[in-house]
Amino acid sequence: MFIQVCGAARAVTGSCYLVEVGDSRFLVDCGMHQGGDKEQAANFQRFSFDPEELDFVLLTHAHIDHSGRLPRLVKQGFSGPIYATPATCDLAEIMLLDSAYIQETEAEWQTRKAKRAGRRPVDPLYTDGDARKTISLLQPVDYHNPLDIAPGVQVQFHDAGHILGSAFLELQLQEHGERATVVFSGDVGQPGRPIIRDPETIESADFLIMESTYGDRRHENNGAPEDQLAKIVEEAKRTDGNVIVPAFAVGRTQEIVYFLREIIEGHGWDMPIYVDSPLASRATEVYRRHRDVFDEEAWERVGEPGGILGYPGLYYTESADESRALNEQKGIVIISASGMADAGRIRHHLKHNLWRPEAHVVIAGYQAEGSMGRRLLDGAETVRIFGEEIAVKAHIHNITGLSAHADQEQLLEWAGHVRSPRLVILTHGEPEAAATLKGLLNERLGFTVAIANLDEVFDLGKAPRKRAVRSE
Ligand SMILES: [Zn+2]
Ligand SMILES: [Zn+2]
Repeated sequence: MFIQVCGAARAVTGSCYLVEVGDSRFLVDCGMHQGGDKEQAANFQRFSFDPEELDFVLLTHAHIDHSGRLPRLVKQGFSGPIYATPATCDLAEIMLLDSAYIQETEAEWQTRKAKRAGRRPVDPLYTDGDARKTISLLQPVDYHNPLDIAPGVQVQFHDAGHILGSAFLELQLQEHGERATVVFSGDVGQPGRPIIRDPETIESADFLIMESTYGDRRHENNGAPEDQLAKIVEEAKRTDGNVIVPAFAVGRTQEIVYFLREIIEGHGWDMPIYVDSPLASRATEVYRRHRDVFDEEAWERVGEPGGILGYPGLYYTESADESRALNEQKGIVIISASGMADAGRIRHHLKHNLWRPEAHVVIAGYQAEGSMGRRLLDGAETVRIFGEEIAVKAHIHNITGLSAHADQEQLLEWAGHVRSPRLVILTHGEPEAAATLKGLLNERLGFTVAIANLDEVFDLGKAPRKRAVRSE
C-alpha cells in the first residue's frame, strides 16, 4: 500500500493523492491548480496515473482546488463513484458547472485569439457535459458513518470545520495482514467561525497527510474580524465610499453576509449589501438546504425572520445588467467572486473602485502568489484589469481572522490530538509555510515529518515492496 502525492506539493492548490491498497486504486481529491498561467498549464498536463484504472474517488470538500479536475478525470475515462458528504455533493454540483462554464469561455476566447494568429483552436480543460457526467457519479456519505468501500479499505468522514460539508478522512487500510490508519486532513478550519461547526479531532493515525497553508503564520489578533469589518463599514458609510469584498463564493460569502447583518442591524445603519455572484447565490441556497450541519449558534438564529442568509437590505444580483448597475452606486457593500480577485465579476468592481480614495477593499482569505488579491496586499500602486492600467487609491484591508483555514497554532493544536503517528506528510502549503510547520511539529510534538514533493510516493507498509507505477 502506498500514497502518491499528485498535487498540492509545496503549493497550496491542486490537491490530489493516489492511494493503492491491494487491488484497489483510488484518489483522494482531484483539485485544480490555481494562481496564474503556469498553474493553468499544469491543469492540462496528463495525470501520472491512468484515470480508467481508478476504482473510486474520495472528496474532502467542494472547493475547486480539491474538486476542480474531477471533470478532467472523467473526460479521460474515470467512471467510478465519487464519495463525499451530502453538502459537499450539492456544493460540488454548482461549483463544477460553474468551473466548466469558465473553462469553456476561456477556451473560446483563446480560440478566437489563436485563429487570428493562424493557429489551431484551443480545447477547453473540460466541458459542461464532462461536469454533468462527474456530478452523476457523486455519492453522498454522512459524517461518522464508516463505509467499507473496497476490500481492505474503510473510510469515515469527520467534520473539518472549513466550509459546509468539509471533511477530513479517516481510512483504515489493510493489505496482506498489514494495517494502517491514514488520515487526510483536507483543509482544516478555524474554530469559532460562524454557521459551521468547529473542526473535529482525531487521536489515532499512523500516517497523517496534512495541509500547511498557514504553517508559518498566525491570524493576527488585532480584534475580532467582525469588529474590523464594522470599522471599515462605518468609515465607508461616513465618506460615502463602497466596500468591495472579493470572496470565495462558498463559505466566505455566507460568513460575511452573516457578519454584515450583525453589524448593520446592530448599529441600526442603512447600507445596502449586494452579493454579486450567481455562484455565491446558488451556494447560499445549498447552505439553506443543509441546516443539519450548522453549529448551535446558527441554529438559534435560523428561526428568525429571513433566516441568517437573507434579510432586509441584502440583495442577490443575478444578471450582468444588475451587476453593471452597481457601478453607478455609492455607499454600498459588494461581495463578489472570485476570492483571489483574478476571475469573475469582482474584476469589474475593482476596476470601478480601486482608483477611488474613498473606496475600501476587504481581502479576507488566502491569496495565492501571482493572484490579483496578493498583488493588492503586497501594495501594488497600479494593477492591470481587462487590459487597462488602474491606479490603486482605495484602502486595502486584510482581515485574516476571517480565514476558513486554521493558522499555525490551530494546526499544531489539531495535529497534537493525534497520538504518535508514524509519519506526518505535509502538503497544501508554500515551501516556507510547510518548512516552518515541519519544524514545530517535530520540536513540540516529536513527530517525524516529511514535506511532500510532487509525485513522491510514500510506502504505508512496514516493509517496502515493489509497486507498479504507470510507465510514461
Ligand atoms: Zn478549501
Ligand atoms: Zn484547499
